[in-house]
Amino acid sequence: MLPHLLSPLSAHCAACGRVADVGERLPLCPDCLRYLLHARVSTATLCPRCLSALPFGRPCAVCRRDPERLITQTYAPYRYRGAVRGLILRLKFTGDSQAAALLAPAMAAALGGADADIVVPIPLGPRRLRERGYNQAMLLAMLTARLRGLTVSDCLVRVRNTKRQSSLHSIRERGQNLRGAFDLKPEAEVAGRRVLLVDDVRTSGATALACARVLRAHGAADVVLLAAAIAPGAGRYFAPAKPKRRRQYRRKGPS
Ligand SMILES: [Zn+2]
Ligand SMILES: [Zn+2]
Repeated sequence: MLPHLLSPLSAHCAACGRVADVGERLPLCPDCLRYLLHARVSTATLCPRCLSALPFGRPCAVCRRDPERLITQTYAPYRYRGAVRGLILRLKFTGDSQAAALLAPAMAAALGGADADIVVPIPLGPRRLRERGYNQAMLLAMLTARLRGLTVSDCLVRVRNTKRQSSLHSIRERGQNLRGAFDLKPEAEVAGRRVLLVDDVRTSGATALACARVLRAHGAADVVLLAAAIAPGAGRYFAPAKPKRRRQYRRKGPS
C-alpha cells in the first residue's frame, strides 16, 4: 500500500469540530469515531416500544401520551449526546450531508427486519425551510431509504409556522404548539400504506405524534418512527407535575 494512503489527514472532525487526525473515509477524530462505534442504544433499560428511559417502577410516559398506538414502534441507533449530538447539530445548522451520511447507515441498521411502503420525513415549517434551505430529516430519510431500498414520499406539509419545540418546556405547550400544524399534501396517497416517519431527534415525541395523527386520519395502515437519536431528557417532559408542597401550619389555640 502506498504510504500516503496510510497517513491520516489533519482536518476538522465532523462531530466535535476539533482539528485532529481524521480518517480518510470518515472525517471523524479517533475519539468521536470510537464513540459512534460503541454508543448504540441499549434497549435493556428502555421502553421496548419507544426507547424512552423508563422511570423506575412507572409505565412509559411517552407511550402513555399515545394511547391509540398511532406510532407502533420507534427505532433509533443512538442517544442524543456526545459525538452523535455533534453530528446532528452540524447536520441541522450547516447542512453537512457528510454528517447525514455518517448517521444513515446506523439508522438503516437500527430498523432490523422492519419494513415499510413509504419513507416520510417530518417536514420543516415554510419559514425555517427558507432560512435553512434544506430539511435535515429529508436528508436522513433519503439516505436511509436508499440503503434499505425504500421509496421516499415527501407527503406531509407544515401548514403553519410553529414555535421551536425546544423553546417549550412542558408537554402541554409542545402539544398545543403543534395542533393543526401538519397536513397531507393534496396529491399524496397514504391509505393502506405502512409509513416509516423519519426525524433527526425524538425528544418528547410530540412532533412525530402530530404527524402520525395526520397519516392515520388519511388511512395509513401503520406508522413507525425512525430517528437518528433519542434525546435522553425525553422523559422529563412527561414527568407528572409534582404536587406543590404546602407548609402545614398547626393551628394555634384549643382544638
Ligand atoms: Zn471529534
Ligand atoms: Zn414507551
